[in-house]
Amino acid sequence: MRIAIAGCGQLARMLALAGWEMGHRFSFIADPGEGTDCVDGLGPVVARDDHPEPAALLEALGRPDIVTVEKEHVSVALLEGLAEHCLVAPSPEAIRICQHRGREKTALQNLGISTAPFQLVEDGPSLITAVEALGYPAFVKSCEQGYDGQNQWLLRDPESLEALAAQMDSLPPLVVEGAVHFDRELSMIAARSVSGETALYPLAENRHREGILLTSEVPAANINEETQAQAHHIARTLLEQWSYVGVLSIELFDEGGKLRVNELAPRVHNSGHWSQDAGVTSQFSNHIRAITDTRPGNTRPALYAGMVNLLGREPDATLLQAEDVNLHWYTKSVRSRRKVGHINVQAKDRARLQQRLAELEAALYPEGEPL
Ligand code: AMP
Repeated sequence: MRIAIAGCGQLARMLALAGWEMGHRFSFIADPGEGTDCVDGLGPVVARDDHPEPAALLEALGRPDIVTVEKEHVSVALLEGLAEHCLVAPSPEAIRICQHRGREKTALQNLGISTAPFQLVEDGPSLITAVEALGYPAFVKSCEQGYDGQNQWLLRDPESLEALAAQMDSLPPLVVEGAVHFDRELSMIAARSVSGETALYPLAENRHREGILLTSEVPAANINEETQAQAHHIARTLLEQWSYVGVLSIELFDEGGKLRVNELAPRVHNSGHWSQDAGVTSQFSNHIRAITDTRPGNTRPALYAGMVNLLGREPDATLLQAEDVNLHWYTKSVRSRRKVGHINVQAKDRARLQQRLAELEAALYPEGEPL
């Protein structure tokens, strides 16, 4: 089949690499100014602005059978226009919800799924009321366009609240969240095919540095049946209630075994990259399978699996000599804090996996060195 991907970053690259193996062919929709290095050689890149009409854009993309996304910040109007001509998966509606924190949290609440306590605010007075109700520290996030901790403010006291409230006129709509006192951050990658067959990966435990994902460990340790059941319930509810098609990623806070959803991503996710080398069908292959109406493949790894992100650095060649690691390099230029690749690692037992993750992290991020 012909598949067009909105976006030209590393997730588009890895989706296309997985899909090429299955005989699919790809094209890519680039936003103005978007870098396209990651998808170089994988199919034609079409500038969205060169073809304002959906039919003309599809023609330029080589008449794809399916349009999918590698990011949530895609014009919903564009996707709706494309959906009149071909399958768009996930649906424009799922993407519309997930690209706005307020809509997303409201949708979760309506499905009875726990989130951090939150209030939506649009001006200084409503910001002050919300923070006073939710208490300090308060996490204030822009409803749109925030990722990896960007466009976020952590308010610890009335002074910082007043300073932010004074700027409200120049800020976009915001969501205020009360602090969740979580023990750790988890995520689940879930997939549903056009015909409704679902597959869930094991929970991953994720660690961040400066708001950016650094490592994932799979399966997350010490998950009891009750926590597992909550995760499955959340994933199945979303997939089924939304008639979702493709991979859906669910970021979770684990607060003493109680799960709250932090964020959803209507796409493959950095915390699922471990699946490329863990003896399962990868999240990328399963996304392609799901949107081409093929039943999702195996999601249960036989080994313990981990991932370390390469943030603003290339790995030393000696690190890559070890037989338990695989490098995934995004062919991007290296800049501070930028995700330029990742290393996957596998081990027979958890202790060994944790040791290897610690070794890789120490080698890549010497203490005291900024990201
Ligand atoms: P986000 O961009 O929403 O994923 O937030 C970035 C990081 O900030 C998360 O991975 C958490 O570590 C932290 N964080 C965000 N929201 C909250 C919250 N309501 N309570 C506690 N920590 C949070």
